[in-house]
Amino acid sequence: MLHFHVITLFPNTIDAYVSESILKRAQESKHIAVHTYNPIEYTEKSKTGGLPRRVDDKPFGGGPGMVMRAEPLIKILSKVVGRKKGVRIVHFSPSGTQFSNKEAISFAKDVVSKKTKHIVLICGRYEGIDSRIEEMFPGTRYSIGDYVLTGGELPALVMIDAISRHVPGVLGDSNSLEESRDASSVFYTRPESLTFKGETYDVPKVLLSGNHKHIEEWRKSN
Ligand code: SAH
Repeated sequence: MLHFHVITLFPNTIDAYVSESILKRAQESKHIAVHTYNPIEYTEKSKTGGLPRRVDDKPFGGGPGMVMRAEPLIKILSKVVGRKKGVRIVHFSPSGTQFSNKEAISFAKDVVSKKTKHIVLICGRYEGIDSRIEEMFPGTRYSIGDYVLTGGELPALVMIDAISRHVPGVLGDSNSLEESRDASSVFYTRPESLTFKGETYDVPKVLLSGNHKHIEEWRKSN
């Protein structure tokens, strides 16, 4: 089983996505497990017993925004990494290595060979995370695309989703993996004919022909 450990100030965003559809089933069938850790729960209460200490603070050297403090993350990462073997740590930044399907497949291969058993995803918020975390817990710094998001939660979900699809058994029918067949990006389902604003929209006849050779040829050209 592949364990994803997501460190996030907003665990509900992760839970909401992974508790539906294929990722939900992948957890039920014990192909993957998704664990979340909220840094707010790892801050020390102030001496007067009032509000928890902050998870963020002002950046040294000045500048806009806030930076996520290292201490709560050190506590979480020490616990998660511990003495475990097969741990991969992922940091996020818009200027990181572009995450791609090739990377997803390579992660999944390491899961199959048992080289990787745990993937730790550290979600930044605000301006980002105190950079010493990357020094203490080295890993790979990924970007999911050329845009700046408000946090690392969507990047973490993108990676969980893209990697899990390649873990054997997650997609019930391995033929569903687009990369392993001549995938078409046009699809039709019932009914065969639809009417919209006076026009008729029919399913291409070849798909109803039952002639698989013709269907394959048609799919390749579409
Ligand atoms: N000041 C930072 C941007 C912070 S965005 C910079 O210029 O690098 C806040 C957080 O969102 C980041 O720490 C990272 O965890 C995440 N994030 C934003 N855009 C991302 C992207 N394209 N890919 C991966 N993570 C991203």
